[in-house]
Formats: sequence, C-alpha cells, structure tokens
Amino acid sequence: MSDFNTSDFMNLMKTQTWSNGRHLVRCAKVIPETHDVTTFTFSMNEPVMFFFKPGQFVTLELDIAEERIMRSYTISSSPSIPYSFSITVKRVPGGVVSNWLHDNLKSGDQIAVHGPVGNFNCMDFPAEKVLLLSGGVGITPVMSMARWWFNTDSEVDMVFAHSARSPKDIIYAKELEYMATRIDNFKMHLVCEKTNIGESWGGYRGYINLHMLNLIAPDFLEREVFCCGPTPYMKAVKSLLQEAGFDMSHYHEESFGSTPTKDVERAEKHADQAVLEEQKPKEMVLLRIPDLDIVKEVEMDLTLNEAAAEAGVNISKACGLGMCGACRVKVLNGNFEMNHNGGISEEEVSDGYVLSCCTRIKSDIELEI
Ligand SMILES: Cc1cc2nc3c(=O)[nH]c(=O)nc-3n(C[C@H](O)[C@H](O)[C@H](O)COP(=O)(O)OP(=O)(O)OC[C@H]3O[C@@H](n4cnc5c(N)ncnc54)[C@H](O)[C@@H]3O)c2cc1C
Repeated sequence: MSDFNTSDFMNLMKTQTWSNGRHLVRCAKVIPETHDVTTFTFSMNEPVMFFFKPGQFVTLELDIAEERIMRSYTISSSPSIPYSFSITVKRVPGGVVSNWLHDNLKSGDQIAVHGPVGNFNCMDFPAEKVLLLSGGVGITPVMSMARWWFNTDSEVDMVFAHSARSPKDIIYAKELEYMATRIDNFKMHLVCEKTNIGESWGGYRGYINLHMLNLIAPDFLEREVFCCGPTPYMKAVKSLLQEAGFDMSHYHEESFGSTPTKDVERAEKHADQAVLEEQKPKEMVLLRIPDLDIVKEVEMDLTLNEAAAEAGVNISKACGLGMCGACRVKVLNGNFEMNHNGGISEEEVSDGYVLSCCTRIKSDIELEI
C-alpha cells in the first residue's frame, strides 16, 4: 500500500508526472485474469501521475538468481487512470521472468522499471474509426487504447476483435463485455480457436479470416488498424488485409517476441558485411569511461554496449532494438551513429544521451554511464 495520504492525490503541488527514465515503483495489486495470466498494478510512494501514450511499454529491471534481467511489458492500463499503471503478464512455459513474476511478485514489493516508450500507440496515429485486433496476451496494448477512448468519452468508433485459444483464455472478458454494453461506439467480437468440454460458446470459432473480418467490421478498409499478437497471428492478419487491398500505411503492429523482419534483414546484411570486414585489418579506437577510470582499445563500429562489455563494464539492456530505452548512456566526446526505434526522445538526444545497444562507435569516444 502507498505511504502517502490520499488527500495528497488532489494536491497538484505535491504531484509529480512521469517521464521516460528509470523509476522505482511499488507493486500495489496482483490480479488474476485467467489461469495463466495475471495483472500487476504499480504506484509510487509519493503521488505521481503516470502519463504515457496508450500502447507504450515499460521495461522491468529484475534481479533473479543474482542476475540482472530486463524484460519489456506493455502498460495495459490507461493514462486516464493516472495514479497507477498496470502490466498484464502471461506465463511462458520455461520462461524466466514471466514465471518469476507470477510466483514471486506481491503487493508491497519494489522494482525498477524503465520507460514508458514505444511507437505503437494510438496518440501518434489519430483516427475517427479504428479496428483493434489482438491475439492472446497481445490484447494488452489495444486494451490500453480502448480503455483510454472509453474513459475519456471519446467519439472514436472502435471495433475490437480478440482471438483466444478457448473461452477460458479470454483476458479481460468481463470488462470488454461491460464496455460493449455501455457505449455504442465500442463493438466487441471474440474468436476462439477451440472450446473445451463443458464450455458453451456463442462467438466466432477458428482463426480470423477475411469472411469473419467482413462480418466483424464491414468498413474495415476505412479504419486505422492496430494489431498485436503472436507472430503467426499477425502474419495472417497482415496477409488478409493485403489480400483485401487495405492501405497498409494505416496498419500498425507490435511484436512481443521475434525481431521485426526489417531488423532481421538489416542483421543479415550486417552479417554479410561482417564476413567481408573480417578479411580487412581492424581499425581500433579508444573507449574512455572517466568515472570508472577505464581506457580501452576497442574495434571501431562495435556498439557501445559491446565495447563496454569488452572493457568489463555491463550496461544493462533489454530489447536490444533501440525500443525500450533501458541501455541509455551519455556520450561526452566522440563520433557515433545511432539507429534506434523510438526508445529515446529528441530532448535526450540533444542532451547527449544515446541507446548503447544501437549506437556504433565511429571514433575515439568518451562515455558517462
Ligand atoms: C514491446 C514488448 C511488449 C511486451 N508486452 C508483453 C505483455 O504485455 N505481456 C506479456 O506477457 N509479454 C509481453 N512481452 C513479452 C515479454 O517481454 C517476455 O518476452 C515474455 O514474458 C517471456 O519472458 P520470459 O523471461 O518469461 O521468457 P524467456 O526466459 O525469455 O524464455 C522465452 C522462451 O524461450 C525459451 N528459452 C529460454 N532460454 C532458452 C534457452 N537457452 N534455450 C532454449 N530455449 C530457451 C523458454 O523456455 C521460453 O519458452 C512484451 C515484449 C515486448 C518486446
């Protein structure tokens, strides 16, 4: 439970707002959603308003078995309820962090989170009509968007189609139903892959297809589409939209796991270049970290993260894609090339900060960590 007086909530002089960075937050509630999905809500000891763009995510920094581990989780709550935020986590068989959270994190525990960040959000792509498509735990970012529009009495015309394995796997089932019965600009459709013995089911069955989509949202070609789910689900959605002639500049997706295709292609290109580069003599530069008394010769073109590791310094990172902002450091001197995916603001860049996972060294360089 938070230590501050509830009247402090109403005192704007005492209330701070949240911005991208590292924050210590306290787990307030642990709420079971389904048999393998749990929501964790967080707040701070002092009144803080958690503003973020619905769809964005945070990166948890955890110490598990004496190892620092980072994982990203979408903020499933909405900034319309700003004094706390939540994440909703599905157990992944054999997964380190998802199971640790389910088995260990309890009300009152303090953890560090980084963020909020992310390009997949509804603020940067305003639209009058939206189609929210989700599969499994991929519901979290689109639920945050739906909650935002619902709580702010927005006029946005929402069609929400969620796919789950079976009725017992539907996350937020009661809340979705509640929203659909309260306002007429929220239409909800559920698709279940299968039903279990003893379960009744009146929704769609099987996998989402074009025929279903035409019934769910006959005007889907006119909608801004936000999609999140397992890779095969998103692949199927994308190809059925393309098949229907949808203008893909209005399609937005978030991937929870696999690296986006463009990053894979870029990595493959880098790998090909690396083979050629290996045959050339390596150009060396000096990495300096004055606070740690480090001066180390490293290869030009390494990422700052790789170079720091060579110097024996671990800069914690999470997504490795320049998305989450967890590996931010300051460049005091030197040339570099950063290729991020939205995990750092323009203001931070102009203050000299970079994301070490996606910043390559182009000369002697000096860092503050
Ligand atoms: C932007 C973003 C937002 C996200 N939002 C959410 C969200 O809202 N909710 C959510 O539940 N998840 C979300 N995720 C996914 C989340 O970050 C984790 O990837 C997920 O919880 C699994 O983490 P884990 O530590 O439990 O699994 P990991 O330990 O990373 O393991 C994942 C899988 O790999 C296998 N594995 C691990 N190590 C090995 C090995 N050495 N050899 C073979 N197999 C191995 C495991 O058995 C498991 O099946 C999001 C991810 C991103 C990038």
